[in-house]
Amino acid sequence: SESLTVSELAKELGKEPSEIIKKLFMVGVMATINQELEKEAIELIAGEYGVEVEEEVVLDATDFEAMEIIDDEKDLQIRPPVVTIMGHVDHGKTTLLDSIRNTKVTAGEAGGITQHIGAYQVVVEEKKITFLDTPGHAAFTTMRARGAKVTDITILVVAADDGVMPQTIEAINHAKAAEVPIIVAVNKMDKEAANPDRVMQELMEHGLVAEEWGGDTIFCKLSALSGEGIDQLLEMILLVSEVEELKANPNRRAVGTVVEAQLDKGRGSVATLLVQNGTLKVGDPIVVGNTFGRVRAMVNDIGRRVKEVGPSTPVEITGLNDVPLAGDRFMVFEDEKTARQIGELRAQKQLEQQRGEKTRVSLDDLFEQI
Ligand code: GDP
Ligand code: MG
Repeated sequence: SESLTVSELAKELGKEPSEIIKKLFMVGVMATINQELEKEAIELIAGEYGVEVEEEVVLDATDFEAMEIIDDEKDLQIRPPVVTIMGHVDHGKTTLLDSIRNTKVTAGEAGGITQHIGAYQVVVEEKKITFLDTPGHAAFTTMRARGAKVTDITILVVAADDGVMPQTIEAINHAKAAEVPIIVAVNKMDKEAANPDRVMQELMEHGLVAEEWGGDTIFCKLSALSGEGIDQLLEMILLVSEVEELKANPNRRAVGTVVEAQLDKGRGSVATLLVQNGTLKVGDPIVVGNTFGRVRAMVNDIGRRVKEVGPSTPVEITGLNDVPLAGDRFMVFEDEKTARQIGELRAQKQLEQQRGEKTRVSLDDLFEQI
């Protein structure tokens, strides 16, 4: 059966019921001896004694993957691509991001406050493209380390006057490992010393062969500084995006990833989320990493208050109990009670993992001393 009373669980574990009640109290569950326990609580307490509860008996209610709703193919709609920019230091990543953002901000928005929320969207030929403003390497390493896949396309910036450098190669390896398509932006074409052929030659040695040389990698020659060639790059992003057939279901509860988060003196926990599937709405009960809350307010990338946002949209939210980490996954639940329970269980689980890790570390230390 999926449920046990406190006394039954105590018997299973060979412990006194009073001890179990105490343990439950310590994780915030008030229970009497004949109370039926939820499976999460059973798993938690059993875990405390190093006892694993069998999979078919208790599902892990803290596992987002396991809880994920699988969409019906017919509910899926085209969504904007999420793009990150990578490349060697000083090759022009920041300049390119700024340049795309500035040239594509519509007249009405130009006077508005463009606030930095770690991601932004532009509209090209009535189609949206989402850019992650975080350094590409961080987006790949920290987010991927946490199991999040956020990038659909990566732009590899290589300065035409400098060529392939160590971080260029590192970026290629990250993108390949994540199986993310690469578009090469050969930057600084305005410079006297620009040598795009050399860049193509050097990248070929790393498996990126330009289309004009018979390969299948798109190369865009541009100048992030002057803006020359940027329109063509954006068109290429849309082209690759179409080939990838990126889809999501806007008519479901939202799931996605934390882009960045911090504690704001006035507003409390502020997190930029990338909605990857579904629609996120003000008032939604939400679990974000190991914290939870209710979406109090949402502000988009141009500083406007919004009530709901669909797939591939970055949005800044308030209303969380604590500050999550970049790369944490988030999931909306049907009611606040469920969000709270799952959030608390996840926090508890994290604490236990930390405790477990600490024990292991200290054992290792001991071993080294011997
Ligand atoms: P990042 O380290 O990759 O983010 O590089 P930045 O965007 O900070 O650019 C490094 C330097 O290169 C800055 O001084 C930029 O002004 C300059 N830069 C970037 N793009 C271009 C370009 O297209 N042409 C020229 N001439 N300079 C550029
Ligand atoms: Mg930079």
